[in-house]
Amino acid sequence: MTIRPIEIQRTTAKKQKPDQQQLGFGLHFTDHMFIMDYSLTNGWHQPRIVPYQPISMDPAAKVLHYGQTIFEGLKAYKTSDGRILLFRPEKNLHRLNNSGRRLGIPPLDEEAALDALQQLVAVDADWIPSEPGTSLYIRPFVIATQPALGVDPSAHYQFIIILSPVGSYYPEGVNPVKIYVESHYVRAVKGGLGEAKTAGNYASGLKAQEAAKEKGYSQVLWLDGVHRTYIEEVGSMNVFFKMDGTVYTPALNGSILDGITRGSIIQLLQKWGIPVVEKTISIEEIYEAGRKGTLEEAFGTGTAAVISPIGELNWQDNKLVIHEGRTGELSAKLYDTLTGIQSGKVEDPFQWMV
Ligand code: PMP
Repeated sequence: MTIRPIEIQRTTAKKQKPDQQQLGFGLHFTDHMFIMDYSLTNGWHQPRIVPYQPISMDPAAKVLHYGQTIFEGLKAYKTSDGRILLFRPEKNLHRLNNSGRRLGIPPLDEEAALDALQQLVAVDADWIPSEPGTSLYIRPFVIATQPALGVDPSAHYQFIIILSPVGSYYPEGVNPVKIYVESHYVRAVKGGLGEAKTAGNYASGLKAQEAAKEKGYSQVLWLDGVHRTYIEEVGSMNVFFKMDGTVYTPALNGSILDGITRGSIIQLLQKWGIPVVEKTISIEEIYEAGRKGTLEEAFGTGTAAVISPIGELNWQDNKLVIHEGRTGELSAKLYDTLTGIQSGKVEDPFQWMV
């Protein structure tokens, strides 16, 4: 099932690059993209790098009706000495296949997919920004393209990779956010799609996210779908709490995405000798720790922001200020260490960078 060699068709009309100070997130796209097709008879075939362009699709393509699609998100960084680094890319491609398994999408050869990703980044290497905090966001995804309205897995797919230069998540320095604890809407349920990276999970979160924004909160804290009691994730990040010297994060339970930043944070904490526990955590427990004064820090983790400190929670109109609304020492240390490793400025003790 090898996908090599990849045919490369270079653009003859290179686009103008955006101002590195004004990149934002996911607004600009590079000169090229990777595409590969799947059919029942040929499997994954015809891997190619082509000029970035719209894709044409039959209006009956299954992805447009039943959301049979999966995606990933990771970043390439340019170091000050000009090297190009990827952060644990094999983990993303492995997770893409895990998501695919849940959505009935045929698996990719992970090694070949990584090779495709690396070749695409190399072709568009001049798009990787170099300003502090900037990076090249990589979005691999699979869509079901069979034109048929029957509700069953598609017989045709496309695997596509696009690239987007992105700005620093924190142009003014790491800042704690205010979070609304969502007691009505849920993101996912056990047995559902929560542990897959698939479009429907994000669509189902939009309404709660908008409502939280209207109330002045940056994001929502998702509770479990059955009891509205147990903490799952924050926005599209995993979540951690430091209480009485120990760091806690919700155990992976089938409705939580297995974040690559989450796993890396756990490894770093273990290496530093800081106790870290994966367990079921209730929102009551967090408020109780807040009342007792043992809740020291809270933060979200994910590829986009790396660490996002939580300065305040609002659960059913009860506000809980954490670490006086300031960034905690552990959050800051984790942010500096991880971003340092990613940008090649700090030693990489786990050989995460590729
Ligand atoms: N949860 C959700 C729902 C996400 O979309 C993401 C972003 N991929 C995360 C958690 C964090 O995962 P990662 O650390 O791999 O970016």
